[in-house]
Amino acid sequence: MHSLHARPALGKAVAGLPPYVAGRRAQNALTAALASNESHYEPLPSVLESVRSTALLMNRYPDTASTELRQRLAEHLAVTADELAVGPGSVGVLQQIITSFCDPGDEVVFAWRSFEAYPILTALAGARPVPVPLLPDENHDLDAMAAAITGHTRVILLCTPNNPTGTPIASRALQAFLTRVPADVLVVIDEAYVEYATGPDPVDSLALYRRHPNVCVLRTFSKAYGLAGLRVGYAVAAPELADGLRRAALPFAVSALAQRAAVASLDAAHEMAERVHGVVAERERLLAALRAQGWQVPDSRANFLWLRTDAALHSELLHAFTTADTLVRSNAGDGIRVSLADAATNDRVLNILGDRTAFG
Ligand SMILES: *Cc1c(COP(=O)(O)O)cnc(C)c1O
Repeated sequence: MHSLHARPALGKAVAGLPPYVAGRRAQNALTAALASNESHYEPLPSVLESVRSTALLMNRYPDTASTELRQRLAEHLAVTADELAVGPGSVGVLQQIITSFCDPGDEVVFAWRSFEAYPILTALAGARPVPVPLLPDENHDLDAMAAAITGHTRVILLCTPNNPTGTPIASRALQAFLTRVPADVLVVIDEAYVEYATGPDPVDSLALYRRHPNVCVLRTFSKAYGLAGLRVGYAVAAPELADGLRRAALPFAVSALAQRAAVASLDAAHEMAERVHGVVAERERLLAALRAQGWQVPDSRANFLWLRTDAALHSELLHAFTTADTLVRSNAGDGIRVSLADAATNDRVLNILGDRTAFG
């Protein structure tokens, strides 16, 4: 049947997605961009130089297997290259994971609020998102997540430290949780902020991976390594699973520039650690200062802080930040996330927030 009015229609999975909201970008040099958890440090000279020289090869396709980067990561993490899958950002790898493991109707369990990409990537694969509310103290409710597992559950996403709350999952709690997950359910530990996760009882995700072959560790060069604009992340998984992820990847998705920059960044691990140290010191300074101002801020183990809000406080705070030309991430209905930057910009945040009693 032909109709003059017929149009191609989006598939159900895409038609049901929420509209895409672009991250707000700074319009001028005075604007503080604290909405995206990026590194505020400029690229390291050695990393920049590796990108400059690789740019001469942009007429060539990159190594689609990311051979050198996987080899270097294998040494860095004490795994083998066949346990690694590299992709265009860890969001790209996560999309490969969810589409590779889920058929339509399968379920993906994750905490909420957590990373905004989780429900979108799940829906895009035709799978069903199963969000499990965080506890009142902003921690993952691992008991409720274990109870949410059904015969349809294929993947569980754990985000530690959690975006946007900054709260880490306690190592013991995670170990106990893993013993409750059926062996055929994949548990992804998303550690986008692992480099910042200093503090007591840190999760040793690679040790958990060695003990539980259904664990997959997800990491990125976008945050502490400062390569957000180049798009490169990776997963550590059992060889047959990592092989599936590599086969499911879009060919040539990780540019040669990104691969080279990631290798150069591993070479610069010492400088990276110094930078992380600076961010962590600022985080602890701001946490203490905000609490002294009367704010309740959960213990962050990442490069951002979380202010839970009700509707009235939410709009008051957004107004205060906007008036002060400072971009922050608004999670309407839940709270506001403020990325850490240099000391002067962080002081600006302290000034904007001022005294808690001045707000509703
Ligand atoms: C930023 C972030 C990522 C990483 O994104 P990339 O695609 O690697 O830039 C992954 N997971 C979480 C929770 C994040 O916050």
